[in-house]
Amino acid sequence: MQQKKVVIVGGGTAAWMTANLFAHKWQKLNVEITVIEAPDIATIGVGEGSTPYLRSFFKQLGIKESDWMPACNATYKCGIKFVNWSSRPGFSSYFHPFNSDADSAYNRKFEHNTWLKRQGYDVDVQPDDFYMMAALAKQQKLPIKFNKSASDSEGINAYDNPHHNIYAYHFDSALLGQYLKQHAQTQLQVNYCSAKIIDIKQQTNGDIKSVFTDTQQELSADLFVDCTGFSSLLIQKSLNVPFISFANNLFNDSAVAVSTPHSHNAASYTPQTVSTAMSCGWRWQIPLQSRNGNGYVYSSTYQSSESAEQELRQSLKLTDDTEVKHLKMRVGRLDKHWQNNCLAIGLSQGFIEPLEATALHLVQDSIERFLDVYDFNPNLEQEEQRDHFNELTNYGFERVRDYIVLHYIMNSKDQSAYWQNGAQLKDISTELAHLLGVWFNGQDLREELAILNLDQYYGSTSWHALLAGYGVFPDSYKGEPDKRTINFTLADEARQYYARLTEQYPPAKINP
Ligand SMILES: Cc1cc2nc3c(=O)[nH]c(=O)nc-3n(C[C@H](O)[C@H](O)[C@H](O)COP(=O)(O)OP(=O)(O)OC[C@H]3O[C@@H](n4cnc5c(N)ncnc54)[C@H](O)[C@@H]3O)c2cc1C
Repeated sequence: MQQKKVVIVGGGTAAWMTANLFAHKWQKLNVEITVIEAPDIATIGVGEGSTPYLRSFFKQLGIKESDWMPACNATYKCGIKFVNWSSRPGFSSYFHPFNSDADSAYNRKFEHNTWLKRQGYDVDVQPDDFYMMAALAKQQKLPIKFNKSASDSEGINAYDNPHHNIYAYHFDSALLGQYLKQHAQTQLQVNYCSAKIIDIKQQTNGDIKSVFTDTQQELSADLFVDCTGFSSLLIQKSLNVPFISFANNLFNDSAVAVSTPHSHNAASYTPQTVSTAMSCGWRWQIPLQSRNGNGYVYSSTYQSSESAEQELRQSLKLTDDTEVKHLKMRVGRLDKHWQNNCLAIGLSQGFIEPLEATALHLVQDSIERFLDVYDFNPNLEQEEQRDHFNELTNYGFERVRDYIVLHYIMNSKDQSAYWQNGAQLKDISTELAHLLGVWFNGQDLREELAILNLDQYYGSTSWHALLAGYGVFPDSYKGEPDKRTINFTLADEARQYYARLTEQYPPAKINP
């Protein structure tokens, strides 16, 4: 094949994930990949939690956990603990777990309990009791068992994963960017250019012909990737692709972030993200090996940046000289993520507030979907592939959005206009409205998610954990069930089962 050129504009995590996956996939083709990053435009500098999907990113690149995790001060993540999102008595917190094979013993029983509760029976419905990952997090244990004698051939850490646990990571986002940059340059021959794009030249058919840098270079390419963050320089500012805001059902548009040290004698960490509801948003706490990452995501319509900073400072007991970082967020998605010869990846293509740490998941999802269908052949008409790619990518953004919206419309905190307006949202998708109808009408939510193919981004466990974890049930109390006639499961039974299983797992240690 005649040499093909790809120019990636941007130097954040999205750009380096794209560069690595492109270069890896096209290793045997004659493709030159160049990343151009403006030295004076900083990366967003936050984004420290992942979903389990990121494991497959490292695995396909052959990068071992034992290599990248120490380099990025990374820790393991069993799920997310939600605190104070519901004011229903007995439901002040719950754990949103990643699944494990071991859950098969109690997963369906838990869902059946939630069904009984929806019929009006008083049974145990706290998700924390029914999932392996919740049990591990509570005990500050790792979701894996290291096994030094095991083979390392998988390309990831040699470990003994007897229950096929699905877990995710926390990491220092700046260090991850540096790690991926170095890997792309040294292992995959990706070129790097430190310069700012100041102009873009288009062909008459709308394709981008070349980009101009402030160092007087002109770079032409067959394919351009816009990884310029919220500025969306190529796809929006040049190709004029419209942006569809989600502001009407996701109010948060700002954040204030700060790092804090581990407490003085801490020898272990809890392998979970904690998300605590605040007066006009929520606060994250992420444990890294080197420190904790914290931030308050809020709506500037309801709270000023000064007041949000003050609230964060108070909740973390920060000293006055601790520096915090304020950020603005553009929440929504592009109408099209691939237009002409330009693909947008990362914050440039859209962003859903980071409540479930899904941004890099959508980045990886978009890159892999693109690699499945893209062809460098200029004579090949790719209109159909492009439309299909855009349709599926939009579908992903909307399904993730629906699940995030669910956290707000189901809240029962009437402490402020922010929470009240969230609970009264009328502008929700037909899919979300339908699923809520299924829940409240006492139907089978798992079955409906599968039939409508709505479980690709958030499966049955996630939906049941959230709704039951908030204590959202129809008001039709029938009293205690009768064990002879109604089959239900006691939380104690599940707790004992997981207590036995988790005995084998090691503590989540902070490295000295
Ligand atoms: C508050 C907050 C919390 C988040 N938490 C999470 C999380 O827990 N999990 C998660 O997955 N994601 C999270 N994210 C999202 C995550 O931070 C981003 O998805 C990720 O960092 C990728 O960003 P990016 O590379 O698209 O953009 P950026 O990091 O903004 O990078 C943009 C790049 O473009 C370059 N650039 C811009 N203009 C030009 C130009 N003219 N010429 C050349 N280069 C240019 C800049 O120099 C920079 O390198 C969070 C985001 C926010 C705001």
